[in-house]
Amino acid sequence: MRRGSEDGVYDCVIVGGGIVGLATAYRLTEAQPGVSVAVVEKEPAPARHQTGRNSGVLHSGIYYQPGSLKAVMCRTGRDSMVAFAQAHDIAHDVCGKLIVATDDSELPGLHRLHQRGTENGLKVELMVPAQAAEYEPHVNCVAALRVPSTGIIDYVAVTETLARILSDRGVELRLGTEVVDLTSDGHGERVVTTDGELTTRFLVTCAGQYSDRLARLGGLDPEVQIVPFRGEYFELRPEKHHLVRSLIYPVPDPAFPFLGVHLTTMIGGGVHAGPNAVLALGREGYRWRDVNPAELAETLRYPGFWKLAAEHWRSGLDEMVRSWSRQRFARSLQRLVSDIEADDLIPAPAGIRAQALRPDGGLVDDFLLIEDTRSLHVANAPSPAATASLEIGRHIADRAIDGLRRVGAVDN
Ligand SMILES: Cc1cc2nc3c(=O)[nH]c(=O)nc-3n(C[C@H](O)[C@H](O)[C@H](O)COP(=O)(O)OP(=O)(O)OC[C@H]3O[C@@H](n4cnc5c(N)ncnc54)[C@H](O)[C@@H]3O)c2cc1C
Repeated sequence: MRRGSEDGVYDCVIVGGGIVGLATAYRLTEAQPGVSVAVVEKEPAPARHQTGRNSGVLHSGIYYQPGSLKAVMCRTGRDSMVAFAQAHDIAHDVCGKLIVATDDSELPGLHRLHQRGTENGLKVELMVPAQAAEYEPHVNCVAALRVPSTGIIDYVAVTETLARILSDRGVELRLGTEVVDLTSDGHGERVVTTDGELTTRFLVTCAGQYSDRLARLGGLDPEVQIVPFRGEYFELRPEKHHLVRSLIYPVPDPAFPFLGVHLTTMIGGGVHAGPNAVLALGREGYRWRDVNPAELAETLRYPGFWKLAAEHWRSGLDEMVRSWSRQRFARSLQRLVSDIEADDLIPAPAGIRAQALRPDGGLVDDFLLIEDTRSLHVANAPSPAATASLEIGRHIADRAIDGLRRVGAVDN
């Protein structure tokens, strides 16, 4: 039986009802069924931000530096996510994907990815155009890499299932409740919300766009700032769905952690094209007209932003032009599938990547978790964190259990 928070102190409070926060609560209550847990989410429902506005891809782990948290957790996380989807009847499809070199200049990059995939323990296959065409008859390439373990899933359905299981396990989901301050005293960490205060023996924050702020409120310096990069999508009009069978990706630019606009079939039907990467004018600025002056000023005051801009101004400008011009967006897609026209593109909702940036202008590539004895803050959880969420959650839950052991709240 779950111990309640009758003494007014939770064993663990988790801030953020995205997929990482809920996966953490899921792993924690799986490993320690007796602990009292509350998840605090400012929106009226889970998955309203990155988790509900992404490409819906189950990544294989091909891209990431071998040994990095991303490489390890993406691979194991993909397997856990597929097993979770099977156990709970969540629609998914391990359909595989093609990464395509569209001219000879991209061949070295494609071969590097082949090498990296092999180093990461994946089954990957280099293909000539005729072989690639057996999987994607309309693809345009000089060579391709097929990654059979990539798939698609609905992460909102995953998050809703997690929320249902947590509710059955007695976890309190406090929706529509924003955390506005964090302090500590002799009893534990105090979580000040728009709906009163909670006290917890261990605090976890998985706050996406606001992760750096919450870490600072909690007294830790993440040494990074979140810079919001919007990813805009289009849908292909139904008459053109036949042009894409599964997933078609370009060879990514190694200077960026983003994968380049790609074509993705969605588990609920349809084909998505995108996302690009433009600076959002607020951490939740999903359209150009959504400007948050204070948050924009915060980005523009940050030295790391100007160092990044100085180094990558040309590609930044290209991305902006592509954001304003459907023709330019279509041209990027035509490199992958020539028969896509600008008129085939219907605007779809955008997502915003919470990307941690260092003061020297370096984009933090790996997952970044910072902790002290009574708290852990997720400071960077970009793609493939949805794929990896059940493994990130397991890792954080282990750290929380260590913290609870130290104060005698769970047995050794
Ligand atoms: C355009 C795009 C495409 C992507 N594609 C993929 C993909 O195909 N596959 C993949 O694996 N990953 C993908 N990702 C990455 C993936 O979506 C994220 O890594 C993942 O969803 C992060 O989950 P999260 O729970 O950390 O963050 P979020 O989903 O952003 O959740 C954070 C939550 O914290 C809440 N919160 C913030 N501040 C407070 C506060 N003060 N009080 C209370 N609540 C608060 C927010 O409301 C939010 O619900 C993509 C991301 C984007 C943006």
